[in-house]
Amino acid sequence: MTTLPTLALTLLAGSSNLVPAPMEPPRKIVIAHRGASGYLPEHTLAAKAMAHAMGADYIEQDVVLSQDDIPVVLHDTQIDTVTDVARRFPGRARQDGRYYALDFSLAELRQLRVNERIDPKRGTPAFKGRFPPGQSSFQIATLEEELQLIQGINKSTGREAGIYPEIKRPAWHRRQGHDISKIVLAILNKYGYRTKADKVYVQCFDFSELRRVRTELGCQCKLIQLLGDGGDECANHPHLMTPGGLLEVAAVADGIGPSIRQVVAGKSRADARITDLVNNAHAAGLAVHPYTARADDLPPFAASIEELLDLVLVRAGADGIFTDHPDRATAFIRDKRHPSSP
Ligand code: CA
Repeated sequence: MTTLPTLALTLLAGSSNLVPAPMEPPRKIVIAHRGASGYLPEHTLAAKAMAHAMGADYIEQDVVLSQDDIPVVLHDTQIDTVTDVARRFPGRARQDGRYYALDFSLAELRQLRVNERIDPKRGTPAFKGRFPPGQSSFQIATLEEELQLIQGINKSTGREAGIYPEIKRPAWHRRQGHDISKIVLAILNKYGYRTKADKVYVQCFDFSELRRVRTELGCQCKLIQLLGDGGDECANHPHLMTPGGLLEVAAVADGIGPSIRQVVAGKSRADARITDLVNNAHAAGLAVHPYTARADDLPPFAASIEELLDLVLVRAGADGIFTDHPDRATAFIRDKRHPSSP
């Protein structure tokens, strides 16, 4: 006769199929935005290692090309706000006064020192409380070096963090004779990121390029269409945010990456409103990963990053979040799922 404790043990061991395990909803994912960029200079290998240690599910890479077609991990095609390029290579700016990764060989880019992001208008750190500019020593990493780092930590810790590369300004690169998408996809393929089962999302603001990535370039990975709220050359797609536009996206991609303000609107906490975007995207079969939750740069409708995460992940129902503070987001999600755990 099976005693109750025995039955309980049997159920715990998963060897009984009489009682199905309670279905937990899919876990919300934490995407470390440019690494643990709230704590270390963005896109440095140190910031990526810290993000991994903080339990991020995915670690983001923004990718641009060097002059010799090596993908490097940098947020902007211009490199003057995060490196000492103006001091090291004076006279190499374009007519707009900016320095571009595409004008430097990898050997030259390797000579640069990476620093905490500077606001070009003010010449002061973009985020005041973050890692002090000019301290320690950081370099630009190639995409391959970063993938090797993440895969290495995956192996040494036994916990697999995924990657979340963004192809930056593909039309701009191609106008200058560089096919960034083709080059990036070849490297993803080399490192085993090939199918929807692999722990990778490929993201891009440029919808026509994302379609090309899926069709002409044959990428089978999960794809994310980024949605901007204005400004950038290919970042503003009001049409793609409509129910019809989202169906067009769903024919190509697996999800969208809108800005947080496209998911929650409002000028104050009392005024916070959930928009239709997440529901409409889910109706089209798309996952939603908004950007960017920052503990030190909150929208007016949230008084803390936890309040912001509650609005975006719980109330709006987004499936994941880009954040500069992956420790805060992983703790928030753990506490929501297991409120009684320490
Ligand atoms: Ca990005």
